[in-house]
Amino acid sequence: MKNRSELYAVWIATSHEPGWLRRLWLDGAYTGEELSEIERIDDEFLAVAREEEIKHREWLRELSKTDWLAVFPEAKHLVKKAFRSQKRFKVQLEVAREVDLEEVVGEYVKLRRGGMYRLAGLCPFHAEKTPSFVVYTNDDHYYCFGCHEYGDVITFIRKLEKLTFKQAVRVLYKHSQQH
Ligand SMILES: [Zn+2]
Repeated sequence: MKNRSELYAVWIATSHEPGWLRRLWLDGAYTGEELSEIERIDDEFLAVAREEEIKHREWLRELSKTDWLAVFPEAKHLVKKAFRSQKRFKVQLEVAREVDLEEVVGEYVKLRRGGMYRLAGLCPFHAEKTPSFVVYTNDDHYYCFGCHEYGDVITFIRKLEKLTFKQAVRVLYKHSQQH
């Protein structure tokens, strides 16, 4: 049987795997005795983790009882800053939502009118030869009949430019400031 420190190394190497996958892998490579030792290490770890979490929670509870501004004076400044940036983001989000979808899509896709509130073009999300990408101008959304991509102007820029939601909002906000 492998010694405990060797098994400990095995446990570390496999601890990030989901339970069943790890089990399958370990089952093939280790004896029953070694497996139960690994399980024991696992239990010990969980016990320590649980205890640490409880300590952490108690610490937070204690902290909330005391004046946290006295303990951490920078907090006031940080909270204010976070609040301001949240407010700013809300404004940017409203502006971003109002950016004209037709205009933004038009920078990537050649659109042709296909009805009163419809514009069609080649889908920028999948390769195609006949247009199945439609922009609906009555409620500002797009849909592709080929790959079923769907969304509003924020989704469009987010997916096409591979941005996070916040980044997409900022890009559209900047765009609106320039136009
Ligand atoms: Zn498509």
